[in-house]
Amino acid sequence: MSMSHALSLSFRRVSPLSFSQSASTATRAFSTSLRRNDTWGFIGLGQMGYAMAKNLRAKIPASDTLIIRDVNENATKRFLEENQEAARNSTCKVIVAQNAREVAEQSTVLITSLPEPEHVKNVFYSMLRHGDLPVLEQERLFIDTSTIDPASSRQIANAVHTTRQGRFVDAPMSGGVVGARAGTLSFMFGASSQTGQLVDRVRSVLMLMGKKAWHMGNSGAGVSAKLANNYLLAINNIATAEVMNLGIRCGLDPKVLADMVNTSTGRCWPMEINNPVPGVVETAPASRDYAGGFGISLMNKDLRLAISAAEESGAPLALAEMARGVYKAVEAEHRGKDFSVVYKWLQDQSAAQQ
Ligand code: NAD
Repeated sequence: MSMSHALSLSFRRVSPLSFSQSASTATRAFSTSLRRNDTWGFIGLGQMGYAMAKNLRAKIPASDTLIIRDVNENATKRFLEENQEAARNSTCKVIVAQNAREVAEQSTVLITSLPEPEHVKNVFYSMLRHGDLPVLEQERLFIDTSTIDPASSRQIANAVHTTRQGRFVDAPMSGGVVGARAGTLSFMFGASSQTGQLVDRVRSVLMLMGKKAWHMGNSGAGVSAKLANNYLLAINNIATAEVMNLGIRCGLDPKVLADMVNTSTGRCWPMEINNPVPGVVETAPASRDYAGGFGISLMNKDLRLAISAAEESGAPLALAEMARGVYKAVEAEHRGKDFSVVYKWLQDQSAAQQ
């Protein structure tokens, strides 16, 4: 039995009838202002999560507590050490939890930032499988910022809601590691607007780590929007690499070509900000040997998830399989590099054909 199948069965086994806190959970009030002595949880201190948790720590009241958890002990250790430095400026208390359940038991707001759907399912399963979480003064809010597929996200939302352990919101983000560090991320979230102040509460939390928060609809709408955006990005990135390669081989100056396109109808983010040709945009990963940026494996994962979301909803994606073939080949050769490395791969293809 696959892990995901096992998890879906496990989630189904958590019956709402086995929980007794329904009335108190349903009537507990939301608050959108930051209260004092709150406890926040953050699980997944990777490229994105580490910087987001740092911003959270800096912006929540010093009387609050932040509980962190990552399977990679180096990440939590580093965070704790950095916090001891920051503690001189009287930031909040930081505690390292030994498991996800411990974080969930104490946190009023719990944010997750994990790589793949299986990681998110595992973490939520481990939080929910031991029965009711202790009732807190304010209803628990789970915000998952990971890019996962809508079906998995709705499954997790359903598990949280049917067991009445709090509210689950999918809120993936855009803006990359630079945006995470600067606290300028854009979030797109899925949350039922029927539950009064939920949307405002979610927005007030997300704005501690970003500058925009789009409410896209009910559960799953955030990840659907994220995958739609990243499908477009995947295609634009390949097309930009092809066009730059074509122009250069026709004898055009790459900088002039990019400037022309950026004031014409072909303008797009990979051409303007993340140009794949070294030297065209000095701040782009291409100008530092494709280091940093948005990793090719994450692009590959998002494309895979977009394709499965399209299959589920019956939406044809004419270019998807072709793009997937390209990203798989590029990942095999340039693992760990920014996804604009597609351009380098194309150049190698051109050379091989000569
Ligand atoms: P990452 O791999 O750098 O970080 C994930 C972290 O989760 C790691 O520290 C890992 O140790 C931890 N982890 C894994 N399983 C765990 C578990 N069971 N319990 C606790 N911790 C666990 O990934 P990232 O780049 O930070 O991305 C996180 C999410 O955000 C992904 O879904 C990604 O697609 C999305 N995203 C990434 C970017 C980007 O530019 N990196 C941009 C937008 C969205």
